[in-house]
Amino acid sequence: MIALDSVLLRPRANESRRFRFVRPRVREPFIPMAPFYQNGLKFQCTRCGKCCTGEPGYVYVGSAESERLASHLEISVAGFYLKYVRKVPGGFSLLERRDGSCIFFDEGCLVYGSRPRQCRTYPFWEENLGSPERWELEARQCEGIASGPLHSGNRIEEMLAGTEGTGV
Ligand code: SF4
Repeated sequence: MIALDSVLLRPRANESRRFRFVRPRVREPFIPMAPFYQNGLKFQCTRCGKCCTGEPGYVYVGSAESERLASHLEISVAGFYLKYVRKVPGGFSLLERRDGSCIFFDEGCLVYGSRPRQCRTYPFWEENLGSPERWELEARQCEGIASGPLHSGNRIEEMLAGTEGTGV
């Protein structure tokens, strides 16, 4: 299809001030691009703890996650909320210590098998998968990115949709 938007360019310095018309460009049909991770991405958590410590942040927990964590800790859900959860904008988050570390981090995750979905799906988050450059940037923060098993594009989509955890 020929684009109708012939482009008007400004004249060069030594040209007269009349406009020059540029030949119309052939516009390619729009084809949605496959995500860069369609062939999978490598990741293996080394449990270095870098993402569980440092800058303050939120680790959101919903009701199902709270029930699972309470069960893991063998306490009531109400007790779990009282002891380990705070209200934050957008929901409830696990408490953290003064230094920013997660309340459940102590030389490793103390509730690893029952950790919240946010932790299970990291680093396969939308904000990290926007482009290869963004993924590479995140790899500077997380030593597990680009090593270990390959997670297929389908599995990554599942994690983005919130229907699967990494389990790694
Ligand atoms: S996800 Fe990455 S930064 Fe977090 S503990 Fe695992 S390897 Fe370390």
